[in-house]
Amino acid sequence: MDKAKRKAIIAGNWKMNKTPKEATALLNEITPLVKDADCEVIACVPYVDLAAAIEATAGTNVKIGAENCHWAASGAFTGEISTGMLKEIGVEYVVLGHSERRQYFGETDETVNKRTKAALAAGLKPIVCVGELLWERECDITEEVIARQIKLDLWDVSEDELKNVVIAYEPVWAIGTGKTATADQAEEVCAFIRAQLAKLYNQDAADAVTIQYGGSMNDGNADELLSKTNVDGGLIGGASLVAEKFAAIVKAASK
Ligand code: PEP
Repeated sequence: MDKAKRKAIIAGNWKMNKTPKEATALLNEITPLVKDADCEVIACVPYVDLAAAIEATAGTNVKIGAENCHWAASGAFTGEISTGMLKEIGVEYVVLGHSERRQYFGETDETVNKRTKAALAAGLKPIVCVGELLWERECDITEEVIARQIKLDLWDVSEDELKNVVIAYEPVWAIGTGKTATADQAEEVCAFIRAQLAKLYNQDAADAVTIQYGGSMNDGNADELLSKTNVDGGLIGGASLVAEKFAAIVKAASK
């Protein structure tokens, strides 16, 4: 299967930015700019912005995602949000295992796996983030780290469920740092991820998975990154908060 047959997906990860009113204003700027996109466009926003974001994007081609979810259906998990809560209000995607969750909030491959399975069971599409630390790259163990994350994060995810999984390759050293992986570095790891998926499932299943690159992707470097065979889209932090920049990345993915 060639790249053209995979769904290109550009997703903004707003992190802890924008109040509900600000979210509405930003989405009102973004939606007209991306209305002719030939790729999937998603805004992953803070929990309290979700309802406003869904309202602001109703009837448009912009889908809304959350930035995390819990694996339990309900219960004594103060501060957490269930997949059912997200689903009921119309959320379609959820970012899981982002490096900031792993680094600051104790997220492990085991909990990423639990969240991924719960999201899939609820009909949400998880964007599962993997990526190596700078230290791990310098020690030349990038492939070992990525292979382990892919295997554990997708443990017990069926081939059928894999169709609804998006993988985001986000080298941790490139997130929010302004240091982008070169297009060749991004391609090398995204191709490696696809090869791991082929080993765990089969080549057809692997060929159908959208693999995004994330890490200081912007309107200046998107074209080159997205031209690579195994880079099917982007998970965008900083640049997703500026409508024109985000729209330029969407345009690059629509070519
Ligand atoms: C991210 O948060 O997933 C990300 C890629 O951030 P940035 O684009 O700001 O590096």
